[in-house]
Amino acid sequence: MAAGDSHRDADVVVVGAGIAGLVAARRLADAGRSVLVLEARDRVGGRTVNAPIGAGKVTEMGGQWVGPTQDRVLALATELGVGTFPTYHEGKNLIDMRGKTKGYKGTIPRLAPHVLLDIERLRRRLHRLARQVSPDAPWDAPDAAELDSQTLHSWIRRRTGTKRARELLDLAIGTVMGTGTAELSLLWVLAYVQAAGSFDDLIDVEGGAQQDRFIGGSALISDKLAGGLGDAVVLRTPVRAVTQTRSGIEAVADGLTVAAQRAVVAIPPPLAARISFEPSLGGERDQLAQRMAHGALTKCAAIYGEPFWRERGLTGQAVSDWGPVSTTFDNSPPDHKPGVMVGFIAGAEAVRHARLSEAERRKVVLGCFARLYGEEALHPGIYIEQAWAEEQWSRGGPVCSFSPGALSAYGKALRRPAGRVHWAGAETATVWTGYMEGAVRSGERAAEEALDAEGWRL
Ligand SMILES: Cc1cc2nc3c(=O)[nH]c(=O)nc-3n(C[C@H](O)[C@H](O)[C@H](O)COP(=O)(O)OP(=O)(O)OC[C@H]3O[C@@H](n4cnc5c(N)ncnc54)[C@H](O)[C@@H]3O)c2cc1C
Repeated sequence: MAAGDSHRDADVVVVGAGIAGLVAARRLADAGRSVLVLEARDRVGGRTVNAPIGAGKVTEMGGQWVGPTQDRVLALATELGVGTFPTYHEGKNLIDMRGKTKGYKGTIPRLAPHVLLDIERLRRRLHRLARQVSPDAPWDAPDAAELDSQTLHSWIRRRTGTKRARELLDLAIGTVMGTGTAELSLLWVLAYVQAAGSFDDLIDVEGGAQQDRFIGGSALISDKLAGGLGDAVVLRTPVRAVTQTRSGIEAVADGLTVAAQRAVVAIPPPLAARISFEPSLGGERDQLAQRMAHGALTKCAAIYGEPFWRERGLTGQAVSDWGPVSTTFDNSPPDHKPGVMVGFIAGAEAVRHARLSEAERRKVVLGCFARLYGEEALHPGIYIEQAWAEEQWSRGGPVCSFSPGALSAYGKALRRPAGRVHWAGAETATVWTGYMEGAVRSGERAAEEALDAEGWRL
């Protein structure tokens, strides 16, 4: 311990004050245990964050949507007094591919019949294959190693006749996972799809993951959870080392060392890999952590007097291959004022975009919005960007994924406790993996594990 550091004791030390860590801490505190949550940033919420847009209103720059079957996060929000409202979805969506922009209704754009047929066939195949993969144990799926030996890209390539269908799926997956299809293990994607219910559940607005939003922004959930935990949440305290012995655990953070019985590590695997664990967690966990990489997603928000695209009968939803913005959504608050347009830049494009100057980035993104929605889009009152790959304490977003070969070989170590260390975080969830719903469920599970392991039931 460095001179001047303070020392505190708790039954459980929780690393990370994202939704998963805060939910775990709340569950443990409710069970009568003392907890300390150590958070590296100067705020809670992790991959959810609200940005002010004037008049006390906010827009979300990280995770935001919620949908049917995401029961645990919805129940939590209700308990905390956070309401929901439907994502604006009236009118036509836009598809902007190969230099042409067209309007369409629903999830699937108006394309040539053979392209539509190709997409439909692919969706059905993906669905059928995903049903063979249990998100609890993807490594037990028939042909798990074979499925894990290919990328989503190589699988799609062999099954689609049309380039257009492949491009469209690339754009959709880019926004959903923040990664190009060429980097994703097919087995991981199948488990991910199955954990959500279906591919449609992942990409749909009505009836899918983008159906609703939280009033006051998703980060309100973490703010309220942290409020309930009071001074058990310690900000600006990155954990650097975790040492475990037979009788306890010591978490060494900047300026604070915590002695506890158990640890819940609720941070994305690539960040957990930066913590020095003593003794080593073993080869399986370490190999896993080296092969799970965060996607790169940049979210751009332009704030206008009002959502002017609605007057033209547009939902504000678009998919575009023009780049760098690949998808857009209307992100205006529930009372429709001001108008908020958000765009996503995914994968390597996001990393390239971050290298531009601030003025260039703004110009490029507003140019994309203007291409879709007209000149008015060039003049927002406020422009905000959040480049998740540039964030020290996330290292990317929205979710970490497995590269080929790793999930079948090392996946078992993703959730399995390592002695006194329990793993939480959206990536460890088996229902809605990678989503706020998954984060809530993972926090609940990790807390239960710790309670069971110590016989701490009230
Ligand atoms: C742009 C974007 C869009 C998304 N869209 C959606 C969406 O619409 N709907 C949805 O459900 N999900 C969405 N997600 C995903 C969702 O936000 C995450 O699944 C969820 O917030 C993850 O919560 P978590 O607690 O598991 O992890 P995190 O939120 O990553 O929390 C981990 C916490 O640990 C902290 N930390 C890291 N290292 C250390 C350390 N060494 N010591 C102490 N603290 C540390 C971090 O600062 C962070 O606060 C999106 C994410 C992004 C980035």
